[in-house]
Amino acid sequence: MKPILQVSGMHTYYGRSHILFDVALSVYEGETVCLMGRNGAGKTTTFRSLAGLTPPRAGEVVFKGKPCTRLPAYRMARLGLGFVPEDRRILGPLTVKENLELGKVPGRKGPWTMSRVLDQFPVLRDMPHRLGGTLSGGEQQMLTIARALMGNPDLLLLDEPSEGLAPVIVAELRRLLLQLKQMGTTILLSEQNIRFALAVTDRVFIIDKGHIVYSGGIDDFRRNTELQQKYLSV
Ligand code: ATP
Repeated sequence: MKPILQVSGMHTYYGRSHILFDVALSVYEGETVCLMGRNGAGKTTTFRSLAGLTPPRAGEVVFKGKPCTRLPAYRMARLGLGFVPEDRRILGPLTVKENLELGKVPGRKGPWTMSRVLDQFPVLRDMPHRLGGTLSGGEQQMLTIARALMGNPDLLLLDEPSEGLAPVIVAELRRLLLQLKQMGTTILLSEQNIRFALAVTDRVFIIDKGHIVYSGGIDDFRRNTELQQKYLSV
């Protein structure tokens, strides 16, 4: 397996506030990896640092073998990084199909066309002309993931995809992520939901107060209830 993403020594700030400390993580092709941590631990900041939205002040990000620390977001997208933000950012006055069109990234080609994406998301296929603003939270979450796939990413970053969703939608999301994995998609997601992470991921990193405090395979993580209690229970 080849590493698709390697991060080392990453420090990120918001103004004077030092948020991430010496963050290191890796993702290999075809894996689903989960960054876990409580509210405010630094998951979103890590993803924003990788996606070029809040550039790290120190450290190195290597994506597909290319050093790309501090590249702006549009360059990261063109290199093949798809980012699904926690707040979804669906455009309410646009239709489902128009929102999906916005996910296309210039110069990126791959298996994901409009019809393939819609085939994968029956809930969207059945209502291509509905306005984004009228969709339920679960439908909007599906639409943000579908929109990111339209850019044919080599690595999909999903920031807390299950947050705020009803259990039946979380189950649907779980099926979708397992399906994407079977199709060879490489995914780095962040989560607080331990059951969800156990069902979909291969490896886990835990972040706490901006520090990576654990890295391990899913079986080790499953057995380590003390660790789960210490860093993830509320
Ligand atoms: P959550 O689930 O609440 O989003 P998280 O693990 O994603 O948690 P971050 O959003 O990365 O955590 O936040 C990490 C820390 O950075 C928190 O202490 C938060 O208060 C702080 N923070 C986040 N955004 C900003 C900002 N724009 N300016 C200053 N501090 C911020």
